[in-house]
Amino acid sequence: MTCPYKLLPGPSATATVPPVTPSSDLIVVGAGIVGLAHAVEAVARGLSVTVVERDERAVGASVRNFGHGCVTAQTGEALAFGERARGTWLRMGRAAGFSAVETGTVVVARAAEELAALEELADERGADDVVLLDAAAVGGRVPVTGALGGAFLPRDIRVDPRAAAPAIAAWLARQPGVTFHWATPVLGVDEGVVRTGRGELRADRVVVCTGHDLDRLLPEVAEEAGLQRCVLQMLQVRAPGLRIDPAVLTGSSMLRYPALSRTAGARALRGRWADERPDLLGAVVNHMLTQRPDGDLVVGDTHSYARTHPPFSDESLDELLLAETRSLLGVHDLRVVHRWRGVYASAEGEFLRARVAPGVTAVSVTSGIGMTTAFGLAPSVLDSF
Ligand SMILES: Cc1cc2nc3c(=O)[nH]c(=O)nc-3n(C[C@H](O)[C@H](O)[C@H](O)COP(=O)(O)OP(=O)(O)OC[C@H]3O[C@@H](n4cnc5c(N)ncnc54)[C@H](O)[C@@H]3O)c2cc1C
Repeated sequence: MTCPYKLLPGPSATATVPPVTPSSDLIVVGAGIVGLAHAVEAVARGLSVTVVERDERAVGASVRNFGHGCVTAQTGEALAFGERARGTWLRMGRAAGFSAVETGTVVVARAAEELAALEELADERGADDVVLLDAAAVGGRVPVTGALGGAFLPRDIRVDPRAAAPAIAAWLARQPGVTFHWATPVLGVDEGVVRTGRGELRADRVVVCTGHDLDRLLPEVAEEAGLQRCVLQMLQVRAPGLRIDPAVLTGSSMLRYPALSRTAGARALRGRWADERPDLLGAVVNHMLTQRPDGDLVVGDTHSYARTHPPFSDESLDELLLAETRSLLGVHDLRVVHRWRGVYASAEGEFLRARVAPGVTAVSVTSGIGMTTAFGLAPSVLDSF
């Protein structure tokens, strides 16, 4: 069988490289949430697994996000994956010892179009999944200003992403038949073989879960899918005295998540913002927040798409996010504790699944919802081998 993807030359000629490692049933490349979800599912199926990660621990998108299990605002396959994933998240939180809680989401409406969008969603999904709130009820759940009303989405969950990835990896490492190779870059994959910077690994089945770095490891696959890197600016702010259990979404979120963005209300909002809020549309803002276990707020986000990005963050985007947050919370005393950029893979569809060689599948969530969906996606990928 010929493979169109050439192996990069590995360092196998050097004396320090260990010999070929005996096989596992499955090799997972990448220890972000997508790779870890595949490893968890493989363990549940009684398979032996080797996870290969280039860094000493996961530091990619999976620890840089809001930790929002945004289930209800998805549609189609993503909704089904999200529903399945939420149960796995809650079980893994208990088993591995990190925060995964059924807080739900409050979507705050501060314009008539936003209220209309939420009413359409409630009509479609029913009162169990979308609880419409009047202004007072919104205020009773989250400390925001200017709400005309809103909706509570009880199926959504919140996890602590900075704790989850390391805790799941540690839990996996305690399971029989699981091996991790940290600080081990994968240089190439082909049928039955994964070539790393430390030698070769062998397995009949390989899943490549390198997130946006798929474009560097398998550029032809990424190009075929039209993959771009989406860069998001994020803030961690200290807001003493605020308690916000649910994730909080706003009007800009309604332009983003498909169950809301397809409503007439959201389309009308976008039309009005084209004149009134070109700053939000230009920066592709999804203004939302979650509260960390330490009380700080994770605030975001902006979106910028390119195959290669400039290395410089734009301070005006952070200022825009801060201004929106001050306005939403009616709080001026917000101290920025951390700023960071997150990157995820972006393409036309929500999920990239490509068979790159017999027994080798590349998997990437290409719509910024990997925390919501990975634990639902992974079983379907393993089913496909
Ligand atoms: C700022 C931000 C906020 C987000 N918020 C949410 C949210 O609230 N809810 C939600 O559902 N989704 C959210 N997302 C999306 C979600 O975080 C991603 O979809 C998900 O984390 C992708 O997981 P991953 O495992 O594919 O990628 P990553 O977490 O990036 O992991 C990929 C791993 O592969 C490793 N790797 C790469 N190349 C190699 C190689 N050659 N050899 C070995 N290892 C390699 C990397 O080191 C990395 O650890 C957000 C994303 C960002 C950036």
